[in-house]
Amino acid sequence: MKAVQYREIGKGPEIVEIETPEPGPGQIRLRVTAAGLCHSDWFVMGLPEESYTYGLPLTLGHEGAGVVDKLGEGVEGIELGGSYAIYGPWGCGLCHACAQGRENYCPRAAELGIQPPGLGAPGAMAEYVVIDDKRHLVPLGDLDPVEVVSLTDAGLTPYHAIMSSKDRLYAGATAVVIGVGGLGHVGVQVIRAVSAATVIAVDTSEEKLELAREVGAHHTVISGPDAARRIRELTGGRGAEAVFDFAGVQPTIDIARETVAVDGDVQIVGIGGGLMQAGFFSTPFGASVRNPYWGSRSELMEVLDLARVGAVDVHVERYSIDEAPEAYARLHDGAVRGRAVVVP
Ligand code: NAD
Ligand code: ZN
Ligand code: ZN
Repeated sequence: MKAVQYREIGKGPEIVEIETPEPGPGQIRLRVTAAGLCHSDWFVMGLPEESYTYGLPLTLGHEGAGVVDKLGEGVEGIELGGSYAIYGPWGCGLCHACAQGRENYCPRAAELGIQPPGLGAPGAMAEYVVIDDKRHLVPLGDLDPVEVVSLTDAGLTPYHAIMSSKDRLYAGATAVVIGVGGLGHVGVQVIRAVSAATVIAVDTSEEKLELAREVGAHHTVISGPDAARRIRELTGGRGAEAVFDFAGVQPTIDIARETVAVDGDVQIVGIGGGLMQAGFFSTPFGASVRNPYWGSRSELMEVLDLARVGAVDVHVERYSIDEAPEAYARLHDGAVRGRAVVVP
């Protein structure tokens, strides 16, 4: 089968022909119907050899959807031909966090060597992918897999961050969304869908700000040294009750710190490597800072239901497997509008 792999440190993604994987006992093979590209793939492919822990070659694709194609020994209760989204942050399945469906916070996954597909285990950017357990599949029903595959990460991750700050998103409150890329453009829509808060979107690119307005942002602010002052102005000096930073670089974390309101939340979602100092004389009274990771199984179901009722709509650029390197180059250059999706 064809697959998109990261094979050599420092060298980008490559198209290769590899053997079609067989599902082992308890596993399920999907014929991939869609796989999304995430900026985290570039984080992984940018790591130096000494801090790279994902194995080589790595089949990319931690946003995946597919049709059940073959069942491993002992798998029951799942039909061949069914259409599913893949829940990516796999955990041990036995601990307290996993019992709550919050496998993204499984404290044992690392020690057990359990890694998500596309971030250690072979991912979905291929014609077929093998899933470890049927609990990692969420039925899509009539949803178009190409339209919704990115909700498995670009939807689930902002949804999880936003729902954990939902008590800050009361009517009259302000939410700031920094970085209106794959995650951010879904984040704006989720805030609009689950709250009556006013949304201010921030990005370095005018085109991304236009996309932000299109998907429901009330105000847009160009990123830079003047952004914090502008946000203070738009909130009558109060600041924002919740700030979601989908870039996470030092300049955006500084904007978050300078704009969070008293008793407000900062959620650092982007892994740009910036740091935020929290404490008296640095952050306002009562402010919280959090670095959320991905989301829970039930939250994936919920964000798919938001798509089902038309409250969330991913802006998708479609590519074939052969075009994946070109799509990755566009993502690297900030040229993707919404999310790039490979359709094998
Ligand atoms: P993307 O490239 O699609 O979007 C990033 C956006 O941020 C772009 O619109 C870009 O113009 C904007 N941006 C960059 N620098 C900026 C700045 N200084 N000020 C304002 N905006 C700026 O990326 P994505 O796939 O949406 O991922 C966003 C980030 O989230 C990445 O760092 C990614 O690795 C991370 N991520 C984290 C999790 C998690 O679980 N925490 C999950 C998925 C992705
Ligand atoms: Zn991702
Ligand atoms: Zn666990």
